[in-house]
Amino acid sequence: MSIPPSSLRVAIVGSGPAGFYAAEALQKSAPGIRIDLFERLPTPFGLVRGGVAPDHPKIKSVTRVFERIASQPGFRFLGNVQVGRDITTAELRDHYEAVLYAIGAESDRHLGIPGEHLPGSHAATELVAWYNGHPEYANHRFDLTQRAAAVVGIGNVTMDAVRILARAPDHLATTDLAVHALEALRDARLAELHILARRGPVQAACTTPELRELGELEGVDVMVNPRDLELDAASVEHLAAAEDRTAENNLGILRHWAERGGTGAPRRIIFHFGVSPVELVGDSRVEAIRLVKNRLVHDGRGGVRADPTDESMTLPVGLVFRSVGYRGLELPGLPFDARLGTVPNVGGRVVQAPGSATAVRGVYVAGWIKRGPHGIIGTNKACAAETVDHVLADSVSGRLAPAAHGADELDQLLAERGIDVTSWTDWRAIDQAEVERGKAAGRPREKFVSVEEMLEVVRRSRS
Ligand code: NAP
Repeated sequence: MSIPPSSLRVAIVGSGPAGFYAAEALQKSAPGIRIDLFERLPTPFGLVRGGVAPDHPKIKSVTRVFERIASQPGFRFLGNVQVGRDITTAELRDHYEAVLYAIGAESDRHLGIPGEHLPGSHAATELVAWYNGHPEYANHRFDLTQRAAAVVGIGNVTMDAVRILARAPDHLATTDLAVHALEALRDARLAELHILARRGPVQAACTTPELRELGELEGVDVMVNPRDLELDAASVEHLAAAEDRTAENNLGILRHWAERGGTGAPRRIIFHFGVSPVELVGDSRVEAIRLVKNRLVHDGRGGVRADPTDESMTLPVGLVFRSVGYRGLELPGLPFDARLGTVPNVGGRVVQAPGSATAVRGVYVAGWIKRGPHGIIGTNKACAAETVDHVLADSVSGRLAPAAHGADELDQLLAERGIDVTSWTDWRAIDQAEVERGKAAGRPREKFVSVEEMLEVVRRSRS
């Protein structure tokens, strides 16, 4: 039976960019459509709130677009509801014609080397969530009294993490960086930050503006060994075949730093290319990282691979952050591709297993849980639009089943379970209170970093 798109009820799970862009695409194609956006925190915006660096406020201003989407008729925000804990995936399917998961990639990839679990070894994504005040990471501790730290990987998460660790705390005090992180960074003694790239400068995953910023930090020298910039044959070919100028521009910046050398600044960011960690060394905590030198070879698929040589070196560091990519987590009741850390899908239609062509009726994905943890915020727009096209096509072609229960029954179910659901109005109260607190300290906002504190603000505003 065909269901007119405008009379659909759709649940979107996850209120990051992919979730909001999916809502926008549904609203544009099917005015009047009813959308419930679920979020496990009382606050919206996913990685825009908990991942984008505090000193990148322009990137965060995308929330204004999301606010407009949230203000459309038919849209409801259901915060503080964790799907898989407070309500099952099967129950959601019973209450909506379509459920679209935009749950991102909540975990991170590991290195799989000895010593990785020693104290002092962390995921960079945990550091990012900690300094952004994510409630689940607010109590993490990083020993920033160490003199030297290494960050493994050379993507944009590394650029963000290194920049925040190297930046003057007085500058960070003008951002919305969490108060606990600001205090810890004021006491930090980090003087050496080593960036470890397993391949060469041409293969660096970071983008040029993010790389360039490292060279603009006050009180920081950026050190690049000119020998690391001598390109091997594989990299010369890689550069010539590049689709855009990122690698060439990155190389230009690195060459400039290599020529400039150090100025005796109190903090140093030191790049190492063509090295892979093989062990974190230490008795009771990280004391050093052992690296093997790589050589670059063609991978036979048009790319360049790092192969280990016999040469190794040990770098004394007290902290190691692995920054080798996010990873999606399995949600009970949803198919999962354990190899990729994604939900198997064809263009956003969830399928029963990796490689299967059999769709799971009424279940969709968008964003990192659909395509893996790559791309910037804007990438999610086209990604969500592709999924939404399939939702609408399935609705018209009779591939969706009418929901067994309505919105009232869902609200009742959550109420019976004692879930204190936060609405968009509740989020506005939290938002206002944070901005208010920040004003007093000359900051854009001062975030609440515990769910309890947030719910306290909500209760006060409701009464
Ligand atoms: P990423 O861009 O995929 O970078 C991962 C890095 O880890 C790469 O340098 C990769 O090297 C390296 N790596 C992977 N496995 C490794 C291993 N076993 N040993 C050593 N190195 C390893 O991931 P990300 O930095 O987590 O960023 C995720 C996405 O978010 C990206 O699309 C990024 O652009 C985006 N992001 C954007 C911003 C921004 O726009 N400001 C900020 C943060 C994140 P290989 O290349 O050799 O695999």
